[in-house]
Amino acid sequence: MYRTMEDYRKIKELLTGESKRILIVTHRNPDGDAIGSTLSLAILFEKMKHEVMTLVPNRFPAFLSWMKNAEKIVIYKDQVEKANDMLQHAEIVFALDFNDLSRIREFDEFVSKNKAYKVLIDHHPDPAPFADLILSDTRVSSTAELVYHFIRDLGLEDGIDQDIANCLYAGIMTDTGCFSFNSSMPSTFRIVGELLRFGTQKDMIYNLVYNNFTYDRMRLMGYCLHEKMKYLSEYRTAYIALTQEEMRKFNFRVGDSEGFVNLPLSVKGVRFAVLFTEKEDMIKISLRSKGNFPANEIAEKYFHGGGHFNAAGGESYESLEETIDKFVKLLPDYKDELLSE
Ligand code: 5GP
Ligand code: MN
Repeated sequence: MYRTMEDYRKIKELLTGESKRILIVTHRNPDGDAIGSTLSLAILFEKMKHEVMTLVPNRFPAFLSWMKNAEKIVIYKDQVEKANDMLQHAEIVFALDFNDLSRIREFDEFVSKNKAYKVLIDHHPDPAPFADLILSDTRVSSTAELVYHFIRDLGLEDGIDQDIANCLYAGIMTDTGCFSFNSSMPSTFRIVGELLRFGTQKDMIYNLVYNNFTYDRMRLMGYCLHEKMKYLSEYRTAYIALTQEEMRKFNFRVGDSEGFVNLPLSVKGVRFAVLFTEKEDMIKISLRSKGNFPANEIAEKYFHGGGHFNAAGGESYESLEETIDKFVKLLPDYKDELLSE
C-alpha cells in the first residue's frame, strides 16, 4: 500500500504524535462510501485527540445522516468562509473516494496548493498525483475497505468502535449494491466479518439506508418506471430522464433519485442503463453497465466525467433534449460491444 517505508513512517508519526488539525474531504454528490469513509476516520482521529474537520462540496442524502458526527460535516456551498478557513489551517488533509480534483472543484485549488501533508485514499482508476501519500487500489470494493486496511496497518485497530464499524460497513454495503457487485474478493467479506466483531449493526444499517425513503420518493420511482423509462432493445440500453419540473412535482430532495439508475438493469437483457437529471446549471448523468461494457469510457469521452468500469458519472451543459439526443446517437457506434456478451 505504501510506496516506501518512509511514507508509512511519516503518516504514522503524524497521526500518533501530538494533536494535529486534520481536514477530511470527499467528492461532490457524496454517497455512502464517501460519507462512511470520511466519518469513520473523523471519529477515530477525534478519539485520538486530534482536531478534526470534515468538508464536502455539496449536500448529501438524508439516508446517510444517521452516521455519528454527520451533523458536523461542513457543506462548502453553505459555509464558504468557514470552509476556506478550515482549508487554510489544516496540517493534514485526507482526500477520500475520488481520483480527480474536478470532483471537489469548489475548493480544488485550496487542496492542491495547500502546504498540509496530503493523503489520498481511493479506489478509482488513475489517481491524480496531488497528494504526498496515495493509497489507491481499484480492486477493492470501496474506499471504506481501504480505510479499514489503513487503520489496521497503522496499528490503530483497537480504536475501532461500533460507530466507526457502522460507517465503514455502510461504505462497503452501498458501494457494492449490498454485495451484488465489486465484492468478489474474499478480503471484502473478511473485513465485513471483522466489522461485525466490532459491533456493526448490519440489519439496522440496511433499513436506515434502503427502507427510509419518503412517500414522495417512492411515488417518483414508480413514475420513472411507468412513464419515463425508455428501453432501446436493439442496443440493450435503457434510460430515464427527469426534468426539474417533474422533480418539483414530487417534492424532490437530495438523494431522492439515488439508485434509480440501477432500476433498468433489472430488465432482462439490459446491459447499459443511464439516468439523466436536470439540475439548475447542467444535466447530471449517471451510467451503469453489466459485464465488459465500459460505462466510464462513455462518461469520459462524451460527458466530461469518468468513474469505474461499470459505474460512472458525468455532466452535460446542453439542454436535456440535446443531451439525450447526443446519447442516443452515440449508441450505434457501440452496438457490437453492447450486443456481445
Ligand atoms: P453516480 O452515478 O452514483 O453519481 O456516480 C457513480 C460513479 O461515477 C462515482 O463513484 C464516481 O466514480 C463517478 N462519477 C460520478 N460523477 C462523476 C463526475 O462528474 N466526474 C467523474 N470524473 N466521475 C464521476
Ligand atoms: Mn467509493
